[in-house]
Amino acid sequence: MEPPTAARDSTPLSGGLLIDGTWEPAEATFSCSDPALPSRLTGSYALASPSDVRRAYAAAGRAAPGWAALAAQERANVLARAAEILERDREILAAQITADMGKPLRDARGEAGRGAAVLRYYAGEAVAASGEIYPSADPSMWLFTVEQPVGVVTAITPWNFPVALPLWKVAAALGFGNCVVWKPAEAATGSAVLVARALLEAGVPAGALNLVSGRGRDLSEAIVGAPELAALTFTGSVQVGLALREALATRTTKLQLELGGKNAAVVLADADLPDAAAQVARGAMNCAGQRCTATSRAYVVEDVYEEFSALLVDAVSALRVGEPSEETTDVGPLASEDQLRKVERYLDLAREERVTVLCGGRVSEREGLYVEPTVYADVAPDSPLVLDEIFGPVLCLAPVADQAEALRRANDSEFGLSSSVFTRDLGRALDFIRSTQSGVVQVNRETGGLEPHVPFGGLKNSSTMQREQGKAARQFFTDTKTVYVRPR
Ligand code: NAD
Repeated sequence: MEPPTAARDSTPLSGGLLIDGTWEPAEATFSCSDPALPSRLTGSYALASPSDVRRAYAAAGRAAPGWAALAAQERANVLARAAEILERDREILAAQITADMGKPLRDARGEAGRGAAVLRYYAGEAVAASGEIYPSADPSMWLFTVEQPVGVVTAITPWNFPVALPLWKVAAALGFGNCVVWKPAEAATGSAVLVARALLEAGVPAGALNLVSGRGRDLSEAIVGAPELAALTFTGSVQVGLALREALATRTTKLQLELGGKNAAVVLADADLPDAAAQVARGAMNCAGQRCTATSRAYVVEDVYEEFSALLVDAVSALRVGEPSEETTDVGPLASEDQLRKVERYLDLAREERVTVLCGGRVSEREGLYVEPTVYADVAPDSPLVLDEIFGPVLCLAPVADQAEALRRANDSEFGLSSSVFTRDLGRALDFIRSTQSGVVQVNRETGGLEPHVPFGGLKNSSTMQREQGKAARQFFTDTKTVYVRPR
């Protein structure tokens, strides 16, 4: 097996097509460039064809019985070794994440570490107690459940967390005994190649993990039509997620969709305002706003609106925008030209709608795909700026009369992924927790940032009701058999 070129220094990475344990040469390729310096090529990857996808599923189908039959401890050992490899190669991996999508190196390092933590968590889960024993009406009967791998799982992943997010899916699927066909986002293929290499080096056998790089829309039919496909886990846009659901409507394939967000923070009069401003600034601008859990709306009670907005503008203005490879950078470039154009359309709309610009509001003049961290005020509640997921460093701030209005405005969204309330009043916090329409609720904390062992997902258009991570992962990546044993 020929490993693809390592991502060291400025050597562009290659590869992307891993089928049946072999990195295959590409018949056609696509290239990726550095969001901080778009003239610099960072990688050239295989453009998989539908027939490559079919071969990947066939390989996964062949490998499935053997991987499922392995002692769970052996699968756990493989994941734990992969965690060590990710830690050993943390700097290489972090540099690749930064090169792929412009995440500041400091955050990219954190993400690589999170990837290792996710692998360790699922190494533990692979050998955790499973199944349940039930009493039967017949006391001589043994009645219990066993959990088994579902078979072949597909993971389709986005570019914004190129290492940790795919591992929520791939490590869980492998740990519970499934084989995987992984389709990473085009922009994150370099990171995906490194993660797949780490898993192979750790001992994932041929066919248990297959990587098909390339354009999702060209591979969709081959993915949803694969007879081996037992479960599909997708993170990405609402549009693509719902299209996949429709394409699978006539099949019994398990489906998990993690989609968009338009997350609101509510700031009440008794909040620790400087702390709340720092949290909201970070929530909105971390990863240049390209997180499904990013804070993109803030509703602040009138009594403290002026004070909070001044603190927020100070906190946002203090963020250092710059080269993602610099250790001190807080906000890097957007991930791609497409992303930049999309966010720019919203900045244009804000000018047309004559909203108040508290800071930012422009594409940066520096080289690279940068947008100035932006805070808008006086935006109409029905403006696309308030309703749409912009997926950029843009926050809409609005005053509200009281907590009831804040909650109504926060809930007035097609999305329901995460929300925050800032208050020192326990009763108010509990009211918010009860009434906010989101799958994640944070008190005195920004809307993003969850650990790997807790359920993650949203309400409304943010997810299907099937959660990811934690115990929810076991439910999704295993099937339950109910067993009656009548001893003779
Ligand atoms: P996207 O939907 O365009 O792409 C996601 C993945 O789907 C990529 O791998 C892409 O190649 C693939 N894809 C695209 N079209 C496809 C098709 N027709 N069939 C099969 N696969 C296809 O999303 P994106 O631009 O990569 O990511 C940004 C979106 O992801 C945002 O909406 C964001 O909110 C969402 N996101 C959600 C979460 C979450 O957990 N809820 C986390 C991160 C990102």
